[in-house]
Amino acid sequence: MTDIAYAKLLPEGIPSWHQPYWDSLKAHSVKVQKCSSCGALRYVPKEICNKCLSTAYSWAPIRPTGEVYTYTIVRRAPTAAYQAEAPYALVHVAMDDGFRMIAAMKNADPESVRIGQRVKVAYEDVTPQWTLLQFEPA
Ligand SMILES: [Zn+2]
Repeated sequence: MTDIAYAKLLPEGIPSWHQPYWDSLKAHSVKVQKCSSCGALRYVPKEICNKCLSTAYSWAPIRPTGEVYTYTIVRRAPTAAYQAEAPYALVHVAMDDGFRMIAAMKNADPESVRIGQRVKVAYEDVTPQWTLLQFEPA
């Protein structure tokens, strides 16, 4: 399926075993891998647990909150569609469940973003097929 109406980049070449993550975004209830052996949550999806090396896992819901670990403000974006929204902030978030995620920050003046700022997951339904994860102030 081609999403020609959306001008920004969409995931391509996603391994089928990553699909539960994308399905959870579409359901607006983000899930990440949970190791079946030690219980560690992991993101991005990986084939083995980096804590105990188990290959067994399930997909578990997470607390959709965290704090800004670091960030950057994009002033020169990669494509015209992104440039139309510049400046905007990309945030690297230390999630309350102990791993980190990177995404765009919405509903915030990029100049107001601060390290340590509390944020929560937001969902952007960009096409009928794809929902993207973003963050917004908590
Ligand atoms: Zn493990």
